[in-house]
Amino acid sequence: MASSLPLNDTQLSLRSALSKTSNSSTSSTTSSNTSLHASNDARQIVRLVQCPQCSYPLREPVTLPCGNSLCKKCIPESHLRENITYPATANRLQGFLCPFSACRKEHAVGDCSVNVVLNNVTELVREEIERYRYTAEASEVLLQVEERDQWSVAGVSSLRDAGVRVQVSRGGRLASTYAMAEMGELAYDSEVTYTVLSLGHDNSEVVDAVLLDQLKEVTRAELDCQVCYGLFLEPLTTVCGHTFCRRCVHRVLDHTNICPICRRTMSIRPGISAQWIESGTQQSPSNTLLMMLLAGLCPEVVAERAEAARAESTTVGELDTPLFICTLSCPTMPTFLFIFEPRYRLMIRRAVENGNGNFGMLLPNRKGKDQGDLGVAPFYQYGTLLHIVDVRLLPDGRSMIETVGVSRFRVLRYGELDGYTIGKVERIDDISLAAEEALEVADITSSSNTRNFSAEDHFGAPPHHVASLSSHQPPVLPDFNSMSTQDLMKIGRTFVKKWQDSSAAWLTDRVYTAYGECPEDPALFPWWFATVLPIDEYVKVDLLPLTSVRERLKMCVEWMVQFERSKWYAHLFSQSY
Ligand SMILES: [Zn+2]
Ligand SMILES: [Zn+2]
Ligand SMILES: [Zn+2]
Ligand SMILES: [Zn+2]
Repeated sequence: MASSLPLNDTQLSLRSALSKTSNSSTSSTTSSNTSLHASNDARQIVRLVQCPQCSYPLREPVTLPCGNSLCKKCIPESHLRENITYPATANRLQGFLCPFSACRKEHAVGDCSVNVVLNNVTELVREEIERYRYTAEASEVLLQVEERDQWSVAGVSSLRDAGVRVQVSRGGRLASTYAMAEMGELAYDSEVTYTVLSLGHDNSEVVDAVLLDQLKEVTRAELDCQVCYGLFLEPLTTVCGHTFCRRCVHRVLDHTNICPICRRTMSIRPGISAQWIESGTQQSPSNTLLMMLLAGLCPEVVAERAEAARAESTTVGELDTPLFICTLSCPTMPTFLFIFEPRYRLMIRRAVENGNGNFGMLLPNRKGKDQGDLGVAPFYQYGTLLHIVDVRLLPDGRSMIETVGVSRFRVLRYGELDGYTIGKVERIDDISLAAEEALEVADITSSSNTRNFSAEDHFGAPPHHVASLSSHQPPVLPDFNSMSTQDLMKIGRTFVKKWQDSSAAWLTDRVYTAYGECPEDPALFPWWFATVLPIDEYVKVDLLPLTSVRERLKMCVEWMVQFERSKWYAHLFSQSY
């Protein structure tokens, strides 16, 4: 259906105008060119509050994870999503196919809440137009509005049976065009032509300008971000329906993954810049409609905001994170450290006194492996930000500190301060839940292997029976790639249970006291497992850059297989003597 086309040429040119504003150094001439004219662009202004699906003014607008918006009632019927076992909450198991042609992906119902900002804006626009249409000055203007559908615009005779749709109404171009959309007489993609019917002087330009100014005024406060209290810069709508600047979401995520407005988990992984989306990486796209609204209504303010943000980002945020090159730490897990070198005592003291009690932990790069952009750095480029929970000063001047892993990061640049390393780091977050689910679906459906695996088949036998399973072959590696995320998790728990039952030396009461019981949450298990499993830290460090729960579980299962094999060979070796 033609009306499901998400974008037309007008919008595309608006978009490119916006990216021009944000890329080039801003001058008032370029930005004022992109501002919408109340009369000449009346059709485009109305389109900004029209639903691309039903063509009526948006009602309870919902922003989808792809950044497109539509009425709540225009969301297609949902179905049960297949091949998803994690996180598998009720509202994530129901999904629908995105009706926007540029997306067409499956979205989880749980990712689609009413967009609070858009809902307020569209309601305010409705009320304001309704009020203004009947004022004395506006009602003097009588216009005939004629729809020109896509065919007619292209110079082809219309394929619609009902013929051309025409309305006569009062209130200027903006109000009349909006009225037509409200009556369901104006398709989203259609253009319009106006004929003045009022006698005497045509006052519609003045009337439109007044109305647009009032629309801007009543909606202005809605377009402020609740984190920075400025106009939205690259607005990003979270799955709970709240909108913030992209950089403000970053700031919030530095401390918590909870929405500052409704306290729900945000499940979002915003790229630093919206441009990254086009390169195909898994990022959260900006809110398309809000971007167009801002670009069309107040491009000068948007340009100013972008310029100020650029200036700010170049002056702050240089080497600001103290880095401790010592061991491998994992998020959510405790790390206990003895601090005796004076330079590190200074570092810890500064972190506690002047900072937030945080510092970065990195594994030394003893084998001189290449670390991406950093080259052969003295440490691995991926590390864990630790928060100091407790500091105990010992009589000999040393101190013992207890820390907990907060988040992961990658070192972008580094230098030295008073003998210890400091760096500029970039936080590493997991992909969104939607992307996590897509990964599981892709893994399961792409595999032609339909065998059912059970965790017990692989690690059910206690270690002293391993050799008797087959005295000639080491344990076989099954196709973990095609297993569900929950089955991978089951393998993990079965493995731990088995070694616990056989009183393994690495699963003593002391280990459980320090690191807690084996977690049942697939998001937490790999961090716990990596902390307690007695294998080389230089193998474990590969877990840190992985940004999906599923990928981390797979890596853990690989370790389990390697671990079993090494025990199997060790067992075989001891038998032959
Ligand atoms: Zn979509
Ligand atoms: Zn709709
Ligand atoms: Zn903000
Ligand atoms: Zn929220």
